Amino acid sequence: MKPQIEIVTGDITTLPVDVIVNAANPSLLGGGGVDGAIHRAAGPALLEACKVVRQQQGECAPGHAVITLAGNLPAKAVIHTVGPVWQGGDHQEARILEEAYRNSLALAAANNYRTIAFPAISTGVYGFPRAAAAEIAIRTISDYLTRRPLPERVYCVCYDEENARLYQRLLTQQGNDTDA
Ligand code: ADP
Repeated sequence: MKPQIEIVTGDITTLPVDVIVNAANPSLLGGGGVDGAIHRAAGPALLEACKVVRQQQGECAPGHAVITLAGNLPAKAVIHTVGPVWQGGDHQEARILEEAYRNSLALAAANNYRTIAFPAISTGVYGFPRAAAAEIAIRTISDYLTRRPLPERVYCVCYDEENARLYQRLLTQQGNDTDA
């Protein structure tokens, strides 16, 4: 049986999964980093969809998640979640990052999606230390998967090899191997 969590190195916009997660900002109107890459690859329909969500419910608070169509992406949908801005570690950053992962997983499950890909939320412009963010990602995702039937498979997409090695080490350490 394939492991439920897989580490992938590369560009999240190319993945043919059910849903990809965007590390959005509260405005939902696009930005740099992975957000910019997703909007470029998806085309203008994604921004239009984000504007509709904004009109309906305003900004997206840190830790929350919303879902839209995926435009030209190979994925079927995009979940936009807002990670915490790193402010030294004593501003609930860890809890908010966990919530961003958990709420994204729950939204994918609520839409009956089986496969989901995450970028390393908050580790770019938002400045969350990479090792701590990777530990939270792996722990929160594994914990969710042991308790729920959906999603069935989660891809953690690292943009560079160094981050991928970090994720892989954590995954091996915590023995994520569904052969057992
Ligand atoms: P945040 O504002 O949440 O920090 P960023 O987009 O600045 O979001 O960075 C989040 C992570 O996404 C970083 O680790 C960055 O290297 C990575 N990243 C940037 N572009 C892509 C991409 N096309 N695919 C996957 N990951 C990406």
